[in-house]
Amino acid sequence: MEKKHHYKEEKTFVMIKPDGVQRSLVGDIVHRFENVGLKLVAIKMLLPTQDEVEKHYTVNPEWKRNVGEKSIEGYRKNGVTPPSEDPEEVGNIVLGYLSDYLASGPVVAMVWQGGHAVHLVRKLIGSTEPLSSDVGTIRGDYVMDSYEMADGDGRAVRNLIHASGSYEEARAEIAHWFSENEIIRYHIINEKILYDVAIDGVLE
Ligand code: ADP
Ligand code: MG
Repeated sequence: MEKKHHYKEEKTFVMIKPDGVQRSLVGDIVHRFENVGLKLVAIKMLLPTQDEVEKHYTVNPEWKRNVGEKSIEGYRKNGVTPPSEDPEEVGNIVLGYLSDYLASGPVVAMVWQGGHAVHLVRKLIGSTEPLSSDVGTIRGDYVMDSYEMADGDGRAVRNLIHASGSYEEARAEIAHWFSENEIIRYHIINEKILYDVAIDGVLE
C-alpha cells in the first residue's frame, strides 16, 4: 500500500458512465458524495475514445485477471455458465465490451478528496453487478443490470459509475484523465468540523 499524506488529502477518481448521464443521474450521484463530506476537486464532461478506455482499465496490470475471476464467480453465483474458464480470456472479452460502452456518449469525470476517499466511494457505489449491489448504494438503488443480462446480449454490465478500487489505481487513473492544473487545491468550510482537532469558535 502506498504511503499516504494526511488522510484528508486522499483522492479518488470517479466517472459517471454514459448510462448515468443518459439517466439524468449526475446531480443525484454528485449529491451522495457531497453528503458524506467529500470535497470535489476536479470535474469535466468528456467523450472518451476507445483507446483512452483501454488505457484506463489497463493502468493496473492485474485488472484483466481480477475482472475475469470476479466475473466467473458472479456467473456461477447466478447459475450461469461463464463464457470461458480462463480469467484472462474473460477479462479480454469484458475490456472489448467496455470500450464500446464508455465511448458511446458523454461521461462525467471527477476527482473527490477526503478521509478514506477510495474506500468510502467504493462503499457508496456498491458492488460491480447492480443485481447484487446492496440497497442504499448507487448501483443498488438506480439500476438493475446483471452479468446474465449483459452476457446474453454481448455487452458490458451497465452500472452507471466507475470508481478507483485502490490508492494505486486512483493515482494512475487521476493522472490518466486529468492534468495537474485541473485539480483545484482549496479549502471547504466543512473540513473544519470534519477534521480539526479543536472545534472552538462555534459559540458566540
Ligand atoms: P468495478 O467497476 O466495480 O471496479 P471491474 O473493475 O471488475 O468492476 O470491471 C469494470 C467494469 O466492467 C464494470 O464496472 C462493468 O461495467 C464491466 N464488467 C465487469 N465484469 C463484466 C462482465 N462479466 N460482463 C460484462 N461487463 C462486465
Ligand atoms: Mg474496477
